[in-house]
This record gives sequence, structure tokens and C-alpha cells, in this order.
Amino acid sequence: MRFIDKLRSFFYGRYGIDGLYYALMCVFLVLWIARLFTANTVVSVILLVLQLAAVGWMFFRCFSKNIYARRRENEFFKKIFRSIKNFFVLQKNRIRDRKDYRYRKCPHCKAMLRLPKREGTHTVKCPRCSKRFEVKV
Ligand SMILES: [Zn+2]
Repeated sequence: MRFIDKLRSFFYGRYGIDGLYYALMCVFLVLWIARLFTANTVVSVILLVLQLAAVGWMFFRCFSKNIYARRRENEFFKKIFRSIKNFFVLQKNRIRDRKDYRYRKCPHCKAMLRLPKREGTHTVKCPRCSKRFEVKV
């Protein structure tokens, strides 16, 4: 059996690489850079242990044959990552639209609405839940 065939048979049925793998790699690199600028030995050792844990988890997930569990972990990670990303996108849009629009939450369904900036109090109909509420812009 050739080496490439052995390698292929080893990787058959393994989970492989996904978004959480790349996130752990980023954590590893950030910890590595932090460790370069750390003069304290205790903090450096703690960062090294965290680095090794990140690498260990990366390889464990990559070579795992329990694909269902690894996929669930990745879905959980993606859900958290998406909510963090959406928060920053909303902040960016609020800054971009600050002259013409106001962002307000619907008190009924908590949907974020972009409302035109007008003086006074207005009645707004939420496009998601179709309920009306007062907004002072
Ligand atoms: Zn609503």
C-alpha cells in the first residue's frame, strides 16, 4: 500500500476542518502574539497552556469520527459568532445612517427598526408583528 493510500484511509470518515477550526486557530495566534509581549512568567505559562488547549481541541475535532457531535459544536459556534457579528454590523449601520435614520426596537417583538429621522412623536407600525407603537425621534 502506498503512503498516499494509507493517508487517504486514515482520513476516511474523519470530521475535517470547519469554521470553529479556523476560530481556534485565530485564538491560538492571538495567544501566541500576547505571549510574545508578556514579560511575566506565570502569565506566559497560562497563555501557553491555553494555546496548547486550543491546538489540542483543533486536532481532536479535525480527526474525530463523531461527525454529528462536531457538527453540533460548529452550529453552536456559528450561532454565537453570527449574533456577535450582527451586533457590530448594526453599530456600523447606526453610525453610517446617523444623519437620516434612527434605530429603535419594537416593544412587542424586539425587532430592530430603521426609522426616518423626523421631529416629534410618531406612530410606527412594525413590519414584523404589525403592531403599532409610539416613537419619539
Ligand atoms: Zn414588532
